[in-house]
Amino acid sequence: MSKKITLQGILFDEKSSYLRGPALAPPLIRKAYQSDSANYFAENGMEILPEVWDDKGDYEIQDYFNIEKITSKNLEPGAPLITLGGDHSITYQLLKAHNKKYGAVDILHIDAHADLYDNFEGDKYSHACPFARIMEDDLANRLVQIGIRTLSKHQQEQAEKFGVEIIQMKDFNANQLPEFKNPLYLSLDIDGLDPAFAPGVSHHEPGGLSTREVLSIIQNINVPILGADIVEYNPTRDINDVTAMVSAKLLKEIAAKMLEG
Ligand code: MN
Ligand code: MN
Repeated sequence: MSKKITLQGILFDEKSSYLRGPALAPPLIRKAYQSDSANYFAENGMEILPEVWDDKGDYEIQDYFNIEKITSKNLEPGAPLITLGGDHSITYQLLKAHNKKYGAVDILHIDAHADLYDNFEGDKYSHACPFARIMEDDLANRLVQIGIRTLSKHQQEQAEKFGVEIIQMKDFNANQLPEFKNPLYLSLDIDGLDPAFAPGVSHHEPGGLSTREVLSIIQNINVPILGADIVEYNPTRDINDVTAMVSAKLLKEIAAKMLEG
């Protein structure tokens, strides 16, 4: 296996509205990925060994706007990039960097929340807002959201204004997944999963996706994945590292999909 995947960790949770903790996540996801409790095989039969990664390490972030600069530098080699967060606010900066490299991408966003607030508690860069900023800046051709189960009236209006395609959790059908035509950016908020499967998140929103459903969504992506993020894992809320292991499994499966495409 010669193709590489760039990996970066963003230690940042200052834009979290409720609890801090996601800044602690990246080293713990790496540790779960390397744990002796599992092997390195993804379900498609590819072995995602540590040599796969062009690992840029974890970045302490003082200034939110530096995330774009760091990411742009790590996109230079032209390999697909996976970012371990961090709260979801980082995705706006990640997408700005991807846009400079690749132009507008299609985005698949898995989350309990639409994250489309025009501003949240006075902060337009809050982790409740990244997809409003992304759509205002025309960083996406298309934004498809899956798992949403907290849609406020304001966010419904925002979705209509920006043409966001929302598959609410109440309407989700694993046999009817969206198909894409353009290269994809995948943004995976761990709270899209049901808290029974992933308790290590700041916002426990019942009634979410199973781990198996998220794996199916990833495995059924029909276009190349240019970039992905795994955000909002909050180790301070985890139980027996189960959410670290879920995050590590999703990391492995996203990597396998990137290498396959
Ligand atoms: Mn989110
Ligand atoms: Mn969320």
